[in-house]
Amino acid sequence: MLTISKSDVLELLRDLIRIPSVNPTLVPEEGHNEVKIAEFAVDWLKKHKVDARIEFVEPGRPNVFAEVGDGDGPTLCLCAHLDTVGTEGMEIDPFDPRVEGNRVYGRGSCDMKAGVAAIMSTAASLAASGSIKGKVILALVCDEEYSSIGADHFVLHHKADACILTEPSDLKMVIAHRGFLWGKVTSMGRSAHGSRWDLGESAITRMGKVIVGLDDFDKNVLRNRSEDLVGPASMHVGLISGGVGISTYAPECQIHIERRTIPSENISNIKSEIEKVVQNVAEGSQVDWYFHRNPFSCNPNELIVRNLTESFERLLGREPERVGWGFWTDAAIFQQAGIPTVNIGASGFGLHEPVEWVDFESVIMNTNILIDTATTFLREKRIIAEV
Ligand SMILES: [Zn+2]
Repeated sequence: MLTISKSDVLELLRDLIRIPSVNPTLVPEEGHNEVKIAEFAVDWLKKHKVDARIEFVEPGRPNVFAEVGDGDGPTLCLCAHLDTVGTEGMEIDPFDPRVEGNRVYGRGSCDMKAGVAAIMSTAASLAASGSIKGKVILALVCDEEYSSIGADHFVLHHKADACILTEPSDLKMVIAHRGFLWGKVTSMGRSAHGSRWDLGESAITRMGKVIVGLDDFDKNVLRNRSEDLVGPASMHVGLISGGVGISTYAPECQIHIERRTIPSENISNIKSEIEKVVQNVAEGSQVDWYFHRNPFSCNPNELIVRNLTESFERLLGREPERVGWGFWTDAAIFQQAGIPTVNIGASGFGLHEPVEWVDFESVIMNTNILIDTATTFLREKRIIAEV
């Protein structure tokens, strides 16, 4: 159980909120402090007898790696991101963490400095207990709110037998979520003077057919392709540009599409069925795929899922609710690296919104669940390995 006091955890959480760590790629004018929060985390962990260091992913973009335990046995990774979204439009002071009853307010309080505080407190408690066979490692990563270069870097350099993420989940256990794919569609027309209906062909009109075709495909096909935990597949057009002037038939038009994918889908099928839709309505248009992230799904029979479930039952007297998410998280990166991964995090409100707060009692419960799960997992995984 928690060996540091609740007020220490609260002070840790408030200190983390006080250090702005807005993602510098997402909001360049606000983001200049990821290194400061990483240095703070390293200092705090060292003070609590946890080995910790900064690992730079890129200049100015730090992960914190920390470890506790004797290393003689399995490894459990706990992961949370240090960056936050920006503060524009916020209706509270983003970096002055006001406490009101159980609520702690501030940018990143819920998403996810609460999760950072929970895993740091877990490591400190385990270090104080002094008898960890195996290892608990912390991945405090940068850049989750943009393109997750932190988690990508971490799994390249560290191994683990399981991972728990602490994105806010209202203490529900997340074992699946959707992925996404980004692509660009380009339609070609024939440029001509605006008066020359006999020569010109508008790429924008052609793109109109593509947009309608993709919308039909989304509503009639993708919406019927659904899974229990994560819901249906979907897609939408996020950006459009085209044309050169009011009096010219548009030679080119482009859209950017986002396809949200579900765990049972196959990426090459996903691409080819969209390409087919595009060719059917606007032959000769080009589709370029430029980024994708896999969906996430963890087998419910994994030891980490069972151990987390048992710890939850011990502490709360009921089974945890198992859920899936429509959006993407770093969990997919760990799972894809071959590390069975689950997510459980605190309760709160207002992620990426004008007012954000986290329920502090849920942060404490989250921490206790992590400590209990870590202890059980390291013991049982070790026994399985020895048999
Ligand atoms: Zn988050």
